[in-house]
Amino acid sequence: MQFVHDTLPQRVRFASGAAAEGLAAEVAALGVRRLMVIAGTAEKDLADRITAGLPVVHRHNDVVMHVPGEVAQRARAAAAEWDVDALVSVGGGSTTGLAKAVALTTGLPIIAVPTTYAGSEATAVWGMTEDSVKTTGTDPKVLPRAIVYDAALLLSLPVELSVASGLNALAHCVDSMWAPRTDPINQALAVEGARALRVGLPMVVAQPDSVEGREKALYGAYLSASAFASAGAGLHHKICHVLGGMFNLPHAQTHAVVLPHVLAFNAPGVPEAEQRLAAALGAPTANEGLARLRDQLNAPRSLEDLGMPEAGIPDAAEAVVAAAPAGNPRPVTLDAITELVRMAWEGTEPR
Ligand code: NAD
Repeated sequence: MQFVHDTLPQRVRFASGAAAEGLAAEVAALGVRRLMVIAGTAEKDLADRITAGLPVVHRHNDVVMHVPGEVAQRARAAAAEWDVDALVSVGGGSTTGLAKAVALTTGLPIIAVPTTYAGSEATAVWGMTEDSVKTTGTDPKVLPRAIVYDAALLLSLPVELSVASGLNALAHCVDSMWAPRTDPINQALAVEGARALRVGLPMVVAQPDSVEGREKALYGAYLSASAFASAGAGLHHKICHVLGGMFNLPHAQTHAVVLPHVLAFNAPGVPEAEQRLAAALGAPTANEGLARLRDQLNAPRSLEDLGMPEAGIPDAAEAVVAAAPAGNPRPVTLDAITELVRMAWEGTEPR
């Protein structure tokens, strides 16, 4: 074997039902005394509750999806004004993303408390949007020092959003099997992540008020993000990035719709990875496993439903081909990608 794998320096604490205690322990471990809590308005009450006993000097609730530049500037200004020494983010990928934007220019440490399955908390990737163009980059400064996972905080995440977000996590697993820096460690994390999500997500749908399914899915989501952080973005993520940016589509739902089409396209080029994913998904083939799971979850199916215009298919396909990662297991031709995007747009079964 010959490969190089980066393991990111981060503490991960699973604390189901005990976010407040877990957070207090991480604040004490960092020795910080002037916290800025970042949480969107939807997560504000939840954040207030779990940070009640902490040395919070400012609560920042101005969170917007995809981190617009002016939103990042306001958060940076607030951090400076209140002279904070650490950031606590409580929320989904948008909230973690805002904390990362502040950390990027200030170097402030982040403690992340995720409330979706997006996984941003386990990566050193930041993203910001200026004039409708999303820029991403990687910087060790933005990697949260610690994560506190409490599945009970996800009980309020509506089932439909849980499904989309959970399939976004599964997409991290699947794409990690062939992404540019894939290696045996990423693949081991990805396969176990896929298994946990396959078990957990149907439980979330069947029993939305139970912590058990949310907990399994959250564990899977963490593994998926760790694999993705190391493997990098494969074809699936490039496609979603292009579509999301061009048509302002919702992040998690776009991943949920596109994933089966990319899996069907790439699977023949990676027979061993395909078989490992099939086993993780509990089916004879990976495609079949994903199809069954999507049926169980009543997953979103078409880009048209998400608001993408049909006339956008040719431009999107061209942009995907231009952005395609080197070393994709199958040639990324304009014809193939046009067909893939069209199937995802129509919501037909992948071929
Ligand atoms: P999000 O953070 O925008 O949350 C989606 C919706 O769910 C919001 O309305 C939010 O208020 C609500 N919500 C979140 N938690 C809730 C809860 N527990 N109960 C009720 N409502 C809740 O969406 P997301 O899918 O978590 O994150 C998407 C963003 O994260 C995108 O901008 C994406 O690019 C980014 N992202 C970045 C990385 C990375 O590594 N940098 C990885 C994944 C996603």
